[in-house]
Amino acid sequence: MIRTVSALALAFCLWGSALAAPAADTVMRSANLRPASGSPEAGLWQASDEAETYARQSADLDSDPVLGAYVRNLICKLAPEYCGELRILVMTRPVLNATAAPNGYVEVYSGLMLRSRTESELAYVLGHEISHFARNHALAQWQRNKTRGNVTLAIQVGVSVVAIAAMASVANSGDFYAPNKIDYIGDAAQTLSDLAYIHGLATYFAYSREDESEADRLGQIRAHGVGYDPWAAPAIWQSVGAEVRASEYPEVRKSLARATIFDTHPLTEDRIEALKRAAGSTPHQTAEESRAEEQAYRAIIRPHLAVWLRDDLRRRDLGQSLHLISRLEAVGEDLGLLAYYRGEAYRQRHRDGDLSSALAAYRLSITHADAPAEAWRELGEAESRAGNAPAAIRALETYLTRAPGSEDRWLIESELETLKASHS
Ligand SMILES: [Zn+2]
Repeated sequence: MIRTVSALALAFCLWGSALAAPAADTVMRSANLRPASGSPEAGLWQASDEAETYARQSADLDSDPVLGAYVRNLICKLAPEYCGELRILVMTRPVLNATAAPNGYVEVYSGLMLRSRTESELAYVLGHEISHFARNHALAQWQRNKTRGNVTLAIQVGVSVVAIAAMASVANSGDFYAPNKIDYIGDAAQTLSDLAYIHGLATYFAYSREDESEADRLGQIRAHGVGYDPWAAPAIWQSVGAEVRASEYPEVRKSLARATIFDTHPLTEDRIEALKRAAGSTPHQTAEESRAEEQAYRAIIRPHLAVWLRDDLRRRDLGQSLHLISRLEAVGEDLGLLAYYRGEAYRQRHRDGDLSSALAAYRLSITHADAPAEAWRELGEAESRAGNAPAAIRALETYLTRAPGSEDRWLIESELETLKASHS
């Protein structure tokens, strides 16, 4: 089952409705709502605390102070009233997601930052999450389920914790899209264990349609209120929709019609239309303004692009990865790095014609100043596969010059000897 779950479809709470009229937005939570121990709500906080502990111990926790400060400043700009109370963690996970747990800890995923075209888009999504927090939606959901005598949520909270322990067995079940190279299995298993964990959290933090609608509206208002473009709100969902449609897997593409792994959630189109209506008569950015915002945001995420793209390929949905790379290329920067990862996506997908597409991408990559050294290595391998020994030798020698301390030096040197011997 896990293999059919798109990382994007796991953008759980963000796939809500914009159908219902939002409630008055004056009633906001005050700080420090931690319930007394033994109270009915205490379990919700305990689960949040456990999730926070897990996140802080996770290898996925990003440790870059510059990126951390950037995200914190953005959240404090959006929500100065909660700035002192929120604990913000940036997680290196290739999934479009962010959460604001009831206990005040916030996770922002690299997959969201990679997919935001501008700071306005990121600000809208974070504003949405802060609105869930501000409106106590998690607590409301908890109470609704209790009132209905519904034990499902309580069980799901347990599942979210159990999911952590169960990850290894899920990851080792072998029930995932068959990787065509043995060295990807470890990566894929790691990604799957993350997805199992996220699925547990998704279930735990699943909000009602009305709450999603309200968070949409309030998030857009919050971001617009501090100067961000309100049209960024529908724009990021349109981008996500297009990426889902580019998936390799029919189950994922169909998820647009079903909207989400949760049957109760409505169509994404409704949500986009509601956000467009709310943006209303606000003028669109000019082309120059839009371009300036794209470039400013790219400068922020540039130091992380390579790692985030590498992680994205590990999701093994290369149709989505290729679509994402095209969007990133549209900014007109980082073209050497992006062409290299385009080549990697084709090479790993390995369908008819993909290897020649990969070769073309590597050849393009090395014409740009920002091409990584690995582009020459992969170009060498691709030229060698295509029977172009002289070009392969040139590329592999350039790789060794550009990456003199690389761990695979002995392997490449041996390959060069073989190529030269067979070609002399
Ligand atoms: Zn939400």
